[in-house]
Amino acid sequence: MCALKSNGLAVSNGNGHNHDDNNRRTPITLPIQSNGNGKIISGFELLHDTNDTKRSSVEVFPQTEILTGDTEQFGKIQKAVYDLLDAFNVNWDDPNYTDTPKRVAKAYMEYWASGYGREAEDEITTFPNTTASGDLVLVKDMKYYSLCSHHLAPFHGYGAIAYLPGENLLGLSKLGRILDIFARRFQLQERIGAQTADKIMELLNPQGVMVMLYDSEHMCMSSRGVQLHEANTTTVATRGIFKEDADLRREVLTMMNR
Ligand SMILES: [Zn+2]
Repeated sequence: MCALKSNGLAVSNGNGHNHDDNNRRTPITLPIQSNGNGKIISGFELLHDTNDTKRSSVEVFPQTEILTGDTEQFGKIQKAVYDLLDAFNVNWDDPNYTDTPKRVAKAYMEYWASGYGREAEDEITTFPNTTASGDLVLVKDMKYYSLCSHHLAPFHGYGAIAYLPGENLLGLSKLGRILDIFARRFQLQERIGAQTADKIMELLNPQGVMVMLYDSEHMCMSSRGVQLHEANTTTVATRGIFKEDADLRREVLTMMNR
């Protein structure tokens, strides 16, 4: 793919080094910024930077999780929940427990681990970028819910996704859809960002992508230890031009933080 050039911003295809250093400081326009619900990021803590996927642990172990959605898997989850509660010697005659294993199994399959049964390719349509627009697309304040793979405790927060279009575009609501697919799994916050960014790179072949997950509360942190109650985690994954161009990255981070 050739480098696109628009609005005075010379850009690369995300894996080359053909952007023009003289022009790259030209301010980019921001035609689209959706769904601001007034959330302001404050006092966040940058714990992880997933710029370099080789450095992150997320790629080391292949992910083998599956969601078959069949009765065998349902039965296994149900039994596991039954055993967990049984270890606490719950009174199975108590109607508040009777159907709990079934309810929990259903919740895992339909919500908490449902992302394993979904493919972004099946849920989104991409459009060729016929205008060769190089305008930044930024969507933020997208709520996400996940379960941490360390404790199976819920964590949730907001996502902001920015991309500089290249070959293809997609509907704005679909950015949140991709985030949701990766969030609804047993996860690490930084891995949700990395997988979302990689998927967008794969589907759109844009000039670059940034995914920030912010204002995130991890129940495994907030529910124990008084010191950590207010802990608020932010992770940023960058790909393509955002990885190469520190000024552009800073500019987008500022917009995401606004
Ligand atoms: Zn945890």
